[in-house]
Amino acid sequence: MKYLLLFLSLAAMECNPGGSQTSLQHPSSLPVSDSLERYIVYDQALIALNRVDVIDGTGAPAKPNQTILLRDGRIEAIGPAAETGIPAGYTILDLLGKTAIPGLVSVHNHLHIPRFPDIGEVASKLHLACGVTTIMTCGAAAPYRELEVARAIADGELAGPDIHPSAPYITGPGGNPNMIIPRNEQHLRDTMQHWIDQGVRWFKIYRHTRPEDLRIIAEVAHANDAKVTGHLCSITFAEAADLGIDGIEHGLNSVSDFREGKTHGHCNGNHSAIFETDMDGEEVQALHEHLIERGVTLTSTLSIYETSIPGRPGADEHSRQAMSPYLIGQYEDRMADYAERGPDSARIERLHRIMQFEYLFAQRGGLVASGVDPGRHNMPGYGDQRNFELFREAGFTAEEAIRIMTRNGAVVLERDDIGTLEAGKRADLVILDGSLKRDSSVIRRVEYVFKGGLCFDPRRIIPETDGQVGIQ
Ligand SMILES: [Zn+2]
Repeated sequence: MKYLLLFLSLAAMECNPGGSQTSLQHPSSLPVSDSLERYIVYDQALIALNRVDVIDGTGAPAKPNQTILLRDGRIEAIGPAAETGIPAGYTILDLLGKTAIPGLVSVHNHLHIPRFPDIGEVASKLHLACGVTTIMTCGAAAPYRELEVARAIADGELAGPDIHPSAPYITGPGGNPNMIIPRNEQHLRDTMQHWIDQGVRWFKIYRHTRPEDLRIIAEVAHANDAKVTGHLCSITFAEAADLGIDGIEHGLNSVSDFREGKTHGHCNGNHSAIFETDMDGEEVQALHEHLIERGVTLTSTLSIYETSIPGRPGADEHSRQAMSPYLIGQYEDRMADYAERGPDSARIERLHRIMQFEYLFAQRGGLVASGVDPGRHNMPGYGDQRNFELFREAGFTAEEAIRIMTRNGAVVLERDDIGTLEAGKRADLVILDGSLKRDSSVIRRVEYVFKGGLCFDPRRIIPETDGQVGIQ
């Protein structure tokens, strides 16, 4: 193996003597424009990440002191430092005491927040700087703009994650008038076809969608290699699974299966049932098994829910730095209000129940992925980092939490080139300054972010995002 690597590296050096700066000779398959160069600290074709602790995204136990070889934007080899020789020609980064994880793959990462339909550019920078290398937007407020941002990133003009764009939200009678409300079957089919033709492969249904519309939405999506997820209410989780939905957002928070007085196809009934249902009981177990049998995935969005709970931690320093003066004003008003109300034990209890619902779903073999669902003081990227701490609080191990946030997202997106640190995968990985296994807050200490083998320095990206979330 060592000899083969040596041979390959010599061959590569001949092709790329001196590692020139022109974009044609970048190691990655990803294009890079001049405007992206300023964020990149390493762009060599051959890079060795030496003596680093690894949580590889497969769920395997954390491994100390590993060496990861990167070649041409892919992971070439990974193994114990003592056994993994570094052939000549590699740029070596000594990362003793640091942790490598796969780039985060987050699947509920809007490029909008309430009142601000387009935060695409700043959100993209924050995602990348925080270690999120792939997102699905899970409902578009400015869909053409979203497609443009996705293209700009794919063409190497803008710093950001790979973006899987989504169509505008679809809802039903009585729902939000800013969303698509199908007038009839042809209108629904034509509208979906329009977005499929634009390149969209994700449809998100919202709380008032009619069951008969979901059946058509799933049929059209699946005939076009697209997927459907939902923030549900009118349709129960069990019904949605039977109607062909692929994913459900927010876990327990959008469940209507246990409501008293709910009528078929309507978003009504008594929401407090969520407090009375035994999470460890047979009813929830039967629902979990039904979803698992139908292959329905759950997207966890704990960090946004936490921001609505008096008595829980508020925005960290980094999040506040990214917020516009307008958002800061809102945040301070909200925090003053929360302080006045005191800890909200009902909501705190609900957060724990949401966590338990997701934990049990995963233990039973269900696939949990995660997303930031930005809003309030839950910022793109930083909220994803917070999710890791909340998964730990929910009872997941560090390895399980990372798997949810990396490999599971890749499974949802059907991306077999990313999501774990294994030979052959694209070199999307995050270097954290410390031991993530020992200290969950290390998820916030991002040293470097590799995307397609290009090494981005967050310190060069973050200053451009200061005060930029929530401006017109
Ligand atoms: Zn959302």
